[in-house]
Amino acid sequence: MPATPPLSLDDMDRQSLFHPVTSISDHITSGPVVYTRGDGVRLTDQHGREVIDMGAGLWCVNVGYGRAGLADVAASAMRELSFQHLFGSAASEPAIRLADRLLNLFRREACAPQMARVFFGTSGSDANDTAFKLVRYYNNLLGRPRKKKIISRLGAYHGVSCASGSLTGISAYHKGFDLPLPDVVHVSCPHYYRHGLPGESEAAFAARMVAELRATIEREGPDTIAAFIAEPVMGTGGVVPPPAGYFQGVQKLLAEHDILFIVDEVITGFGRTGSWFGSGKYALEPDIVSLAKGLTSAYFPLSASIVSERVWRVLEATSRTTGAFMHGFTYSGHPVGCAVALANLDIIAGEDLVSRSEKMGRYLLARLRESIGDNPFVGDIRGTGLMVGIEFVADRARRQDFPAEGAAHRLVAKRAQERGVLTRALPFLPVTSFSPPLTVTEAEIDEAVERYAGALGDVLPQLRALAA
Ligand code: PMP
Repeated sequence: MPATPPLSLDDMDRQSLFHPVTSISDHITSGPVVYTRGDGVRLTDQHGREVIDMGAGLWCVNVGYGRAGLADVAASAMRELSFQHLFGSAASEPAIRLADRLLNLFRREACAPQMARVFFGTSGSDANDTAFKLVRYYNNLLGRPRKKKIISRLGAYHGVSCASGSLTGISAYHKGFDLPLPDVVHVSCPHYYRHGLPGESEAAFAARMVAELRATIEREGPDTIAAFIAEPVMGTGGVVPPPAGYFQGVQKLLAEHDILFIVDEVITGFGRTGSWFGSGKYALEPDIVSLAKGLTSAYFPLSASIVSERVWRVLEATSRTTGAFMHGFTYSGHPVGCAVALANLDIIAGEDLVSRSEKMGRYLLARLRESIGDNPFVGDIRGTGLMVGIEFVADRARRQDFPAEGAAHRLVAKRAQERGVLTRALPFLPVTSFSPPLTVTEAEIDEAVERYAGALGDVLPQLRALAA
């Protein structure tokens, strides 16, 4: 019998790999793009083609690709103690040191002295699951079994597990999965450019969003609302910085009704917005904070939930009677991940990547506005730090969407990829995000913006046809 020829990587992928968040039919037709190397802001694929990754993976490679120092730290941590869990009071030095470092960093940089303990997981989704469960646990301990609902926002992205996916406010992630679960309520997306009324000031819009939240709490009954969850700047939902005054109004309401505030800093943590944390930037006072992504710059899967004194005190005070806290993951506080996170934090601090993010973010915004700001299909270019979004519209004056939802910005992103720049066409709104590693230089931004502008020029006739 003739020997069967070995499968190409492409075919092996098509025959074996189940890709997350991927159109199965498109994948069968186009196959994978296989990346083989990363260095700084650049990725190389298996055919030797280089692209600038203006997405930093999925908003996560904050210190850039290919840091040999982090690989060395991981290797030596793995040689020393390849695994240690944290169940039943067991611990490892990297987990203890990282908890201490994170707590102090967050307290200082987010002006949040109220934060008390750190719980580890492995992904943003599980950090939000931990928050979801903690909120229930806390209210059960307080004898308030009815106070269980969590309010989230349309457009929010908090993960894809059953609980965190329910908090996510993007219907595409719910469809077919029977989500959201009960006890999750979504309010409007505070997106001023899109939902502000003609002539309405940003402050008036923010007040309207807060009034809607108040009406929702009153409608549902304050004694049933346990928590409110928000990303300081919405990421996947369209790169939406909060309208001025919004979070002040929200926090006042939460305090009035004894509602916990879960702040999802999975994207905004560790310099992405030009501050260490979005909580510091927007003067938020969280009860629970979710962190992941930039915590290790994705060199290892690791997440953290920081819990406030208010929540911790209740758990501590009741622990004699409640027994063990029965929640945790095998890989909670994995020693290799914690060692990598510590070294990653050294890099962010040592190279001053947080101020760099602020400075390069301003440069990126300016370059995008200068080169494509006048394009008839570019409605808005906005962002903070290295978290920037371009919102596409079919009609600028009337801020009207393209009839085929999502087609236009996907077309530009696809063409941009062919021209050697990776951006992310988001799923909720016709917005493309730019979130490069915080190490990106002006020259790299120039190169990426030039390629992107070229791509937009290439597809202009198709955009005109789509808009007609
Ligand atoms: N929260 C936010 C704000 C996110 O952006 C993400 C991921 N993009 C998550 C949670 C979920 O993280 P993961 O994919 O690691 O589960």
